Amino acid sequence: MATAPEPEILAAFESAKGFMPRHEGLALHAAAVEAASLGLPLLEVGTYCGRSTLLLADAARAAGLTAVTVDHHRGSEEQQPGWEYHDPEVVDPEVGLMDTLPTFRRTLHRAGLEEHVLALVGRSPRAAAVWGGPLGLVFIDGGHTDEHATADYEGWAPHLAEGGLLVIHDVFPDPADGGQAPYRIYLRALASGAFTELPATDSLRVLRRTAPGL
Ligand code: SAH
Ligand code: MG
Repeated sequence: MATAPEPEILAAFESAKGFMPRHEGLALHAAAVEAASLGLPLLEVGTYCGRSTLLLADAARAAGLTAVTVDHHRGSEEQQPGWEYHDPEVVDPEVGLMDTLPTFRRTLHRAGLEEHVLALVGRSPRAAAVWGGPLGLVFIDGGHTDEHATADYEGWAPHLAEGGLLVIHDVFPDPADGGQAPYRIYLRALASGAFTELPATDSLRVLRRTAPGL
């Protein structure tokens, strides 16, 4: 079975706002296709404008599953006005805060993937606290402070089924390349003994849950 997304999904991905490079996106998609064989929902932390969500949604659609994506849609620290990754197009002028939800919805709609996605709008730890079932994939691409990355790991990794995949974006072992919080949760996952690492693609790391004990 071919695992690459259809050309129209790739085109939608390329034209969507966001922070997922194509080669890492293809690796994420391949992980999602593989994880989908478990028949469980695929979960993303960090929707932003839906760029990476499209890839999980495409894998979910092909397997008859649901992609779940969590974001408060107010942006991470580094996306706020005055910071490096700010985009003034995603500010709600009425409330004066970032709001990426409308752009996210357009992204999904344009790609014809709305049906396959459940969007949870709110803070990741709150969503994790009420989430009740096992997941086939947990993709962590939310806040990049230690507080947020740690909460994402602690909140969602325990919901990952055995055999499921934990995928972490923006893992930079060298501080010169980027913040260390995603790297630290990656190390923590490895140290837990519950995961086996699969091949990485740049900053995208893929771990398979092979044991209980989280
Ligand atoms: N996956 C996206 C990029 C995500 S950017 C892409 O491929 O383009 C990170 C996102 O995480 C932002 O939209 C921000 O609002 C969200 N975020 C940060 N901390 C969060 C938290 N604690 N709970 C929910 N969302 C959070
Ligand atoms: Mg990222």
